[in-house]
Amino acid sequence: MELTPKEEIEALRARVAHHSWLYYHLDAPEISDYEYDLMIKRLIELEAAHPEFYDPQSPTQRVGFAGFEAFSPVIHEVPMISLDNVFSMDELRSYFHRAERGLTENELKQLRWAFELKIDGLAISVIYRHGLLVTAATRGDGHVGEDVTANIMATSAIPRRLPEIDGSPPPELLEVRGEVYMPKDVFERLNEEQLDAGQPLFANPRNCAAGSLRQKDPKVTAKRALSFWAYQLSRISPDPGIASHVESLRYLERFGFPVNPNIRLLSVESEIYDEISKWEKKRHDLNYEIDGAVLKVDDLKLREKLGSTARAPRWAIAYKLAPEERDTKLLAIEISIGKSGRATPFAVLEPVEVAGSTVSRATLHNEDQVKLKGVREGDTVVVRKAGDVIPEVLRYVPELRPADSVEWHFPRTCPLCGSLLERKTGESDTYCVNFYCPGRTVQRLAHFCSRSALDIEGLGENTVALFVDLKLILEPPDIYRLQYSQLIDLEGFGDRSVTQLLRAIELSKARPLSRLLVGLAIRHVGEEVARLLAKRFPSLVELIRASKDELDEIEGIGEKISQSIREFFDNPKFSKMCEELIELGVAIYEPTERVDRDEMAKTLTGKVIVITGTLAGFTRETAEEAVANRGGKASSSVSKRTFALVAGEAPGASKISKAEELGVPIIDEEQFLHLMEHGEIVW
Ligand code: NAD
Repeated sequence: MELTPKEEIEALRARVAHHSWLYYHLDAPEISDYEYDLMIKRLIELEAAHPEFYDPQSPTQRVGFAGFEAFSPVIHEVPMISLDNVFSMDELRSYFHRAERGLTENELKQLRWAFELKIDGLAISVIYRHGLLVTAATRGDGHVGEDVTANIMATSAIPRRLPEIDGSPPPELLEVRGEVYMPKDVFERLNEEQLDAGQPLFANPRNCAAGSLRQKDPKVTAKRALSFWAYQLSRISPDPGIASHVESLRYLERFGFPVNPNIRLLSVESEIYDEISKWEKKRHDLNYEIDGAVLKVDDLKLREKLGSTARAPRWAIAYKLAPEERDTKLLAIEISIGKSGRATPFAVLEPVEVAGSTVSRATLHNEDQVKLKGVREGDTVVVRKAGDVIPEVLRYVPELRPADSVEWHFPRTCPLCGSLLERKTGESDTYCVNFYCPGRTVQRLAHFCSRSALDIEGLGENTVALFVDLKLILEPPDIYRLQYSQLIDLEGFGDRSVTQLLRAIELSKARPLSRLLVGLAIRHVGEEVARLLAKRFPSLVELIRASKDELDEIEGIGEKISQSIREFFDNPKFSKMCEELIELGVAIYEPTERVDRDEMAKTLTGKVIVITGTLAGFTRETAEEAVANRGGKASSSVSKRTFALVAGEAPGASKISKAEELGVPIIDEEQFLHLMEHGEIVW
């Protein structure tokens, strides 16, 4: 049913009021900030289109929420208003044009914008009289906040006493505003403690900071390690004659207030857009959360001229970054099977844009995590994606749970092969018991071919899945038995791609043993352990024969690891596979340069080698290192002195033509390997 504008406005006002209550009073939001901001945005648009429904009590006309009875009220002499938001560069451009319309040509020439990060915490005001902190208050509804002086006193984030500067006493009155926030590492530590104590987790650092500050017992606040960035000098007497915002922040810094180091003074709009784009990418490098950037007119006189509305200043704007948390529908909970047979539940989601990318799946880790989060199919869930981090389902929204939803139970059988799914007592993970489960085979082989293992270019998960499906491969040795004739007729393959693939497979045989050990996916054997093993036993034959005691003696290898290695090699299935790999000559030695590079044959002494393009078996660094280890010199430009130009995939055209011009031999990777071994080029 279509709502009339009046009905929609009323419904939105009621929903916003409900969520504001949850957010400001209970520090327990049920929807993401982004969803909330979109509701407000829609309400602002509707109210602007229908001024006849104006209501001074509308959330668009107000700031935050009045105080909680637990704290005494503090009246803000200067109201603590909010900020208007924009969500795109276009909206920001329109804001600049609006703000600039109120200024003369001369004023426009002076116009500078202070760029600041928008810290995701909560605003507080701190008042000092004769250098002593006397009052700290939250924003509340902007006019009346909550008295949190005792709690602020209990933290070490904000100075309690201001020093003399250049022999002068601190001002009689100073009011500073800024953001109290919880650093990410503190937040993670607190949540780990909550988990250990079986307590519910905090939703995010912002809510945790707000909850920590608004504690009845200041000792609890003290333990929460809150931090603070000052971003506004609100009142000062006597007046020191400060003319600009940035100047006022430098002044506060001298009193010991922490001021965020990422503030920039910018006048050109394009610089502002660049700075925002930069932080869109870099936000994860910070140890605190930001939800955007704030742009503020720097000149205090111009600010006065632009003035404020009841809710927000006209001289500042908040640019909200793409959200990291979004609400979406959890369509189904499914199971994926990993290389070790681990059955991992994951959420199939209604696709949703989070932090700049579309998320349609998110891991749910294991059975216990699903229980802890209490999610069910059909729920509306909050999904989070921070930077490169794998998307995660944070929680479900209780009020949006369908009436007929049912609890989810971990399946008893594997969805891919129908075998039993087994969870051992004391373990949190569940496994498919069938070693040849197709899901497991694909993952195992894809891992074998992956970059950290045998690094076979062209054998990614999809191709591996296709080959497994066609029964061309089941175990790693099968990869080395693939024939041109088996592949050439497959859809999507041609002479060039098959030749390239077979060549990449052949080249991978020269990888060091440690990579093979990673590729075999032996339990507890990662890259580091593999290196330790291959250093002590540089050939696979030796390693297979090593007793558990001998393995135990290797520094860095403990009981659990040595046992797992022995179990692997003692298993007839794996020992047979290793025999086949030895026969095929696949990565069964650890090259000696890893053991002692000084003993390497100096086959390249006096020779200058230039490398261009991508090599299958080396990174640029390892190739150059290999040249240097053999007494040669790796150079980046071709000259008359160049002994050979090694051309990999996608070589640089200018290097090739230069080499051709000077008659420098151009060799491929196989010839390069031969050259390193024998000191001469074979054609
Ligand atoms: P706001 O957070 O959008 O912007 C104003 C606030 O930004 C200031 O009060 C200040 O605390 C902060 N800020 C951070 N860095 C700053 C800087 N460098 N300079 C100036 N201010 C800075 O506005 P708001 O009125 O606090 O809006 C409420 C916020 O709370 C929004 O992000 C909204 O999404 C969220 N909210 C969420 C829910 C929910 O249910 N999820 C409910 C209510 C409010």
